[in-house]
Amino acid sequence: MARRPADALAAALARIDDSELIELTRALVRIPSVVRPDDPAGNEREVARHVERWFAAQGLEHEVQDVAPGRPNVVAWLGDKGRGRSLLLEGHTDVVTEGDPREWTHPPFAAALADGRIYGRGAADMKGGLAAAMIALAALKRSGASFAGRLAVGALVDEEADMLGARHFCTTAIGRELDAAIICEPEQNEVCLEQRGVVWARVTARGRMAHGAMPEAGVNPITAAGALLGEVPALERRLRRLCARSRYLRPATVTPTVVQAPLEGIGQPNVIPSGARLTLDVRLTPGPDGAAVARELDAACSRARARCPGATITWEAVNGFRLATRVERREPLVRAVTQAVRRVTGEAPRFGGVPGSTDGTILRMTLGIPIVTLGPGNRQIPHQADEHVEVAELVEAARIYVASALNFLEA
Ligand SMILES: [Zn+2]
Repeated sequence: MARRPADALAAALARIDDSELIELTRALVRIPSVVRPDDPAGNEREVARHVERWFAAQGLEHEVQDVAPGRPNVVAWLGDKGRGRSLLLEGHTDVVTEGDPREWTHPPFAAALADGRIYGRGAADMKGGLAAAMIALAALKRSGASFAGRLAVGALVDEEADMLGARHFCTTAIGRELDAAIICEPEQNEVCLEQRGVVWARVTARGRMAHGAMPEAGVNPITAAGALLGEVPALERRLRRLCARSRYLRPATVTPTVVQAPLEGIGQPNVIPSGARLTLDVRLTPGPDGAAVARELDAACSRARARCPGATITWEAVNGFRLATRVERREPLVRAVTQAVRRVTGEAPRFGGVPGSTDGTILRMTLGIPIVTLGPGNRQIPHQADEHVEVAELVEAARIYVASALNFLEA
């Protein structure tokens, strides 16, 4: 006998076991998954294996997608897309470095449970959100809820670096079939409809080597790089004019993050090098396309070059363009999530914006699907010492995922 939707929701929510969710989160945090390229064990392999075993124990259909050696995506799902929709709850399995463990009150990989919080690297970013998604999928299976289409949970690799997991996922059958995704990143369970974009512009200045005592015999690329740095405030102002003003996102910024010279050989005080390089971390709000951003970067390089005769200044995007994303409130996904928040919390949803880019940026740009970012954990806490997630938020997130999925995939 088919259940009425309200009954299906109540039945599925009743299958969320808070202590199971807490223990799953703690188990994931206890498996360090900091990516260290020089260490064969320094990757997501062990945590991915744990996720896979957990899916198998729940009797969920799942697959392991090899992205790179020792770095698999793990994806589980309920239902078939058929003529319905396909929704993804997305999380990543890598975490950033714990830094100096002495700066932590609770050891970074002990997953201490104290003051209603779970402490540890990745507790918020984002093993908590991933565990909440896994528990939501299992609760829907246990309750026998029927819905049209497919609900998938993806535990992807490499979000903190090149987003290889998300890029790979977009090429797989289950990825290509997606209609929408909820990104379970720590946004204190706010409904985030926008996220800032990022372009890392690596600028190279070339000149001509010469003796430091006879600068007129050469062309100094460091002076050229300095001229480009002088263009940064103007570049930022121009990008801000191109970008839409957002209620939820800080305006576009251009921040120099890396300076390097010489590019070859060793640095010596009396040698003008032939090359210099700097990287600009460019953050964007929705509006301009890649070509418009590229034109502004080109123009900044030409203005700097005009002040440094003989030098060349070029730039390239490291890792391509990850543009800002936005979804409209009228999207079925947004309606499904906001209604879920109302049902679960009894309150109006809080809207927000994501300050950085996420795997959702790749899904949105590659597949063109709407994404909403919503997950447990304070927005500011990722990458800090004493990272933690509030248990109450964790449980609330799992409940919101269940209700969102039932709303979006309603028969
Ligand atoms: Zn994250």
